[in-house]
Amino acid sequence: MSVGVPVLMYHAIAEHPAAQTRRLSVRPAMLAEQLAWLTGHGFRTLTFSELMAARRKERPLPERPVVLTFDDGYADFHSAALPLLAEYGCVATVFVTTGWVEDAGEQRAGNPLDRMLAWTQIDEVSAAGMEIGAHSHSHAELDQLHDDALMQELSASKSLLEDRLGCEIPALAYPYGYSSRRVRTAVRTAGYRHAAAVANATSRPPHSPFAMPRLTIRRSTSLDTFGQVLQGRRVARTFLLDRILTAGWSVVRTRHLL
Ligand SMILES: [Zn+2]
Repeated sequence: MSVGVPVLMYHAIAEHPAAQTRRLSVRPAMLAEQLAWLTGHGFRTLTFSELMAARRKERPLPERPVVLTFDDGYADFHSAALPLLAEYGCVATVFVTTGWVEDAGEQRAGNPLDRMLAWTQIDEVSAAGMEIGAHSHSHAELDQLHDDALMQELSASKSLLEDRLGCEIPALAYPYGYSSRRVRTAVRTAGYRHAAAVANATSRPPHSPFAMPRLTIRRSTSLDTFGQVLQGRRVARTFLLDRILTAGWSVVRTRHLL
């Protein structure tokens, strides 16, 4: 039944985000309202890898599951999102672009869009029960890379996180949400167990574990739209939600919400 589990994609959580991240950022007060809505409606959060384990029948799903993911590794995850998640008893998965880490030092790569998490903050996020996933090393458009560079992006991100945190990093989110078949094969070869993409009009289940669709939460997403989409009552154009995923949600809705 995990086909119907909504996986939400957030980026920065900021009142005053950097200009480049503004459209995809969410105000802290709005995140608080969304978390209150989710917990008030009986939703239970699980990490992306917990969802994928449930999909493999390795663990049960809670009654009304939802997965919260945060891309890029902005510093405001630590300062703004983490306290709210703790307050509401929620977990999340943070996909970190390792070359963007604030104190990446000689590992620095790519062009961070805002202030990013430092390694000690990543430690604290992990210790607080959040999952850390990889988001490539430099936030490259993976499908544009030659095979060697592609494998380097995937392996560097995974091994830097694993060395720092001392645990397996099974999850990746594609930069820009996009992957090609060649990229997905490389992700598997690099040792990842599953990967998150972005929902689009062409995604149809059964979804590959290496192309799990997510829904984009934007600054413009009203609480009303948020609630309607979580309850499967509305396919908002801004979510580019695919029909079958909605059908999966409708099972959840019928069983639990209506
Ligand atoms: Zn990203």
